[in-house]
Amino acid sequence: MEQEPDIKQRKIIHIDMDAFYASVEQRDNADLRGKPIVVGGSPEGRGGVVATASYEARKFGIRSAMPSKRALQLCPHVLFVRPRFAAYKEVSQCIREIFSRYTDLIEPLSLDEAYLDVSEDKQNIGSAIEIARRIKQAIKDELNLTASAGVSINKFVAKIASDLNKPDGLTFISPAQIEQFMEELPVEKFFGVGQVTAAKMKNMGLHTGADLKRLTEQELTHRFGKVGGFYYKIVRGIDNRQVQPHRETKSMGAEDTFPYDLTTIDEMSAELQKIAGNLANSLLRHQLKGRTITLKVKYSDFKQITRSLSFASPVADHETLFDTAVDLLVKSDITDKKVRLLGISMSNFGEHKPVVMKGNSVQLELFP
Ligand SMILES: [Mg+2]
Repeated sequence: MEQEPDIKQRKIIHIDMDAFYASVEQRDNADLRGKPIVVGGSPEGRGGVVATASYEARKFGIRSAMPSKRALQLCPHVLFVRPRFAAYKEVSQCIREIFSRYTDLIEPLSLDEAYLDVSEDKQNIGSAIEIARRIKQAIKDELNLTASAGVSINKFVAKIASDLNKPDGLTFISPAQIEQFMEELPVEKFFGVGQVTAAKMKNMGLHTGADLKRLTEQELTHRFGKVGGFYYKIVRGIDNRQVQPHRETKSMGAEDTFPYDLTTIDEMSAELQKIAGNLANSLLRHQLKGRTITLKVKYSDFKQITRSLSFASPVADHETLFDTAVDLLVKSDITDKKVRLLGISMSNFGEHKPVVMKGNSVQLELFP
């Protein structure tokens, strides 16, 4: 690895609460303990998705972002619980207060997940692993919940590490271990690699970080676009992204690249249904509602268009996202076009902020 003597080595912790919403529900209601439960939308109707499944429910293959209907098929005796966001927010604030005893550099990713930069070591504890251990213990003692922690020198490795020994895990990846760790990491664990990209990589004979490492930066960007440059660095253990305490979410999106070109509205609608479900779930997790929905379409000739629609009041549900995306798709001229990527994003989260459109976007008004 390259020597970068000017950059002080950082100590980064990624904390992720274990099955957060479900754990809070089981903690607060003895009837739910030890049982497969799903916090999220009801399986009746179209829009319900799983926000969080308890570990008991995960044994049946139930996962976040899955339609609630599917969860019920997998486990007919699963219990559906309506989310209580006020309760989760309150717990989240307590968790952040615990973090703040150890560092001021906290970057929350959602109610149940955050990066901490503990390089400063506010309490002079001397070890990032020990800080992570104390945070986990405080969460257990004070909130009766468990968290998993990943400790390393950058955000990427810390985040992967926190996921390795869930639940109640504490995993440290030392600087000396990073190179081997990244080489052994399956490609689907890399940032932003979805199922389709992972399949594409495997078709190219790329299964692990070591395989990615054999490619030059040019080859990676040629094959995977801009994110290829990030893969090049990350596979070498380099991730200089800072922990940003006041990051504001400006937009949130979900998209998918397809292994073959889509040519019919039916095929595209089926994909948009899934993408809308993923986005609805992310918005739910972050407690965000927005007023502008944007559809992104990329054709097989790499030409890309975006189409937006703004609402008078904030929305976030699966059905609105899906219906709007299909509406925008139908209104854009897709005749004789081969579609390679579809995406939906939500923006304009603030109250009464002007809508800013870029590039070839068009703004339409909707009067529901
Ligand atoms: Mg979590």
